[in-house]
Amino acid sequence: MSRVRLQNVSKTFGTTTAVKELNLTIREGEFFTFLGPSGCGKTTTLRMIAGFYYPAEGRIWFDNRDVTEVPPQKRNTGMVFQNYALFPHMTVHENVAFGLEVRKISKKEIRERVKKALEQVRLAGYSDRRIAQLSGGQQQRVALARSLVIRPGILLLDEPLSNLDARLRDEMRSEILSLQRSLGITTIYVTHDQTEALSMSDRIAVFNQGVCQQVGTPEEVYNAPRNAFVASFVGETNLFPATVAQVSGETVTVQSKDHTFRIRHKQEESGFSVEPGNRLFLTIRPEGVDLVPEAGENTLSAKMELVQFMGTSFHCAARLEDGTPLKAMFVNRPDLMGRLREGDRVIFRFPEDRLRLIPGGD
Ligand code: ATP
Repeated sequence: MSRVRLQNVSKTFGTTTAVKELNLTIREGEFFTFLGPSGCGKTTTLRMIAGFYYPAEGRIWFDNRDVTEVPPQKRNTGMVFQNYALFPHMTVHENVAFGLEVRKISKKEIRERVKKALEQVRLAGYSDRRIAQLSGGQQQRVALARSLVIRPGILLLDEPLSNLDARLRDEMRSEILSLQRSLGITTIYVTHDQTEALSMSDRIAVFNQGVCQQVGTPEEVYNAPRNAFVASFVGETNLFPATVAQVSGETVTVQSKDHTFRIRHKQEESGFSVEPGNRLFLTIRPEGVDLVPEAGENTLSAKMELVQFMGTSFHCAARLEDGTPLKAMFVNRPDLMGRLREGDRVIFRFPEDRLRLIPGGD
């Protein structure tokens, strides 16, 4: 299993900068995800790691080996593509065996390794089927078996679940994860789906417009986003421009429009300090918002516009008096059953330990 290091890597296509000055280390055995919207440079980065693209600048290392100029077949990476890229006229066995045959491995060993790879992806007994006779989920498993059979040091997965329906996607998510855990293989996973990224990864790199915005564990990225883009792309959030009015130890008072809020701000957690006059964003996740009977500190009055009962939670869309939209979510609150009505005036409270400050907002 290998560690992957990208050192100041950039890639341009004509006048488009697809990836800009990327520095990243993916640890041995880690499940690492590139997350970001369409066109942000995730696939280009993965393809540079696989060797399909060469960087315009920078170096790529696998452990202590500089692979920047090494062709793909000599990198010992296994790749699963979004469209699987299987050979439709060939059988499952032939598809999985292909990579071993080009490596001139003996027939006997090929048989054994294909059998094992198909067992790993729960497709034992399917070796003689043709690809066209398989469901989407099964084809996905063949693609996975084909990449694992060569015993790669690094597994590269480019949106492998995006062609599957929601239920199968959930199932394959756990299968890929348990396979990765049992093999301990360094895995890089590309997705634009934040739920996939949060639920599968040891660490996530969030990309936007070719630039890596933040690297961290799912908890770090979700709970301590470094900027407004990460806050709003990873999970839902409420984001308000605000100005720091007063700082007293860890307690910061900020002003947003006509409202004053008190917040607990820890520099060591957030990575930045604040001073009076700073303009930044005030943010709170929908599940951080509370509903209270009376106005008081950190409260705002709003009108409930949409209430959706989701089984274990209520998802609410409301509007503040100045027209600002606000999302709130109440989890495990049977006391609210039948009490949240669209059109009602309500009072929301933003607990000071659930509010966060994020740089930016000028
Ligand atoms: P998606 O999720 O849509 O695949 P992505 O985050 O993987 O998006 P990339 O495919 O890496 O994004 O693309 C990054 C940028 O580089 C985009 O602006 C894209 O149009 C451009 N790009 C990617 N590949 C090429 C290419 N072969 N030729 C020209 N431009 C390209």
